[in-house]
Amino acid sequence: MQDFVAALPKAELHVHHVGSAAPDTVARLAARHPDSPVPSDPEALAEYFTFTDFAHFIEVYLSVVDLLRTPEDIWILTHEVGRDLAAQNVRYAELTMTPYTSIARGIAAEAYVEAIEDARRAVERDFGTALQWIFDIPGESGLPAADVTLDTALRLQPDALVGFGLGGPEIGVPRPQFAPHFAAARAAGLHSVPHAGESTGPQSIWDSIDELGAERIGHGIAAAQDPALLERLAADGIVLEVCPTSNVCTRSVPSLEEHPLPSLVEAGVTVTINSDDPPMFGTTLNAEYEIAAELLGLDEAGLRALATAAVDASFAPEDLKSWLRSEIEAASA
Ligand SMILES: [Zn+2]
Repeated sequence: MQDFVAALPKAELHVHHVGSAAPDTVARLAARHPDSPVPSDPEALAEYFTFTDFAHFIEVYLSVVDLLRTPEDIWILTHEVGRDLAAQNVRYAELTMTPYTSIARGIAAEAYVEAIEDARRAVERDFGTALQWIFDIPGESGLPAADVTLDTALRLQPDALVGFGLGGPEIGVPRPQFAPHFAAARAAGLHSVPHAGESTGPQSIWDSIDELGAERIGHGIAAAQDPALLERLAADGIVLEVCPTSNVCTRSVPSLEEHPLPSLVEAGVTVTINSDDPPMFGTTLNAEYEIAAELLGLDEAGLRALATAAVDASFAPEDLKSWLRSEIEAASA
């Protein structure tokens, strides 16, 4: 099973740029900025990265944010995230980027976009993995952050930008306030992919569908509590980006055994399996596929179907999608 999952070509749809920084990447960035409190010694860093609780995750996340001080830092992170995805046979990923955090720290939006676009081309050349972007609003920073995110997306129009998202904590961040931003992004051809129903209830998912025009929902696991919502998701083909280990780490679900993934599938909702902030939650996309196989009782055919669902739900160009589907069909351990 493990070998088959590792060999399976995959598409990753819900993974955060900063949250994907591996310990060796962080060591490299820390060495570039010796005044940072982050250790640059790999062994100390491995320990620093061992997930303890949610507060610890936030601490690690913010310390990585603090290491991204120049466009070159952004380039290094993006290139190494691409390397780590390719090492797991992820052939295509939609990386969730939060340009606002870098812009607020003094990196010009133009330089940010140039760095990620250049790194994307290098990733494809060096590792063969295609990347596209989702720009997300850090919800906790409110409307000013939403303005900057939208402006960066629409004014600079990065080649690989395909989606507009909304992340950060859900509690105290009502989704409808961002309706004008999502309307403008959608009018410009971007897909709507907000987080909802992770740490809050079904209403945030309804709001995301009705007010933000969501085509996919980041997490969306709270839908399991609402039969009418499950029906709506299934009928309209709105896809959930499920990240099992993340949900346990953030205590959105008490344990993997109690994860609602099986009831979502049973209700006919299309689910995809993703990793969210993998090194910080001590996981990988391959580990998440193994967890899903366990929870859903999947054999190789079931795993192929799961990987194909992610390709179908992606915003990849059609030729890349059909190539990936045939690669998945041909996969063997
Ligand atoms: Zn997320």
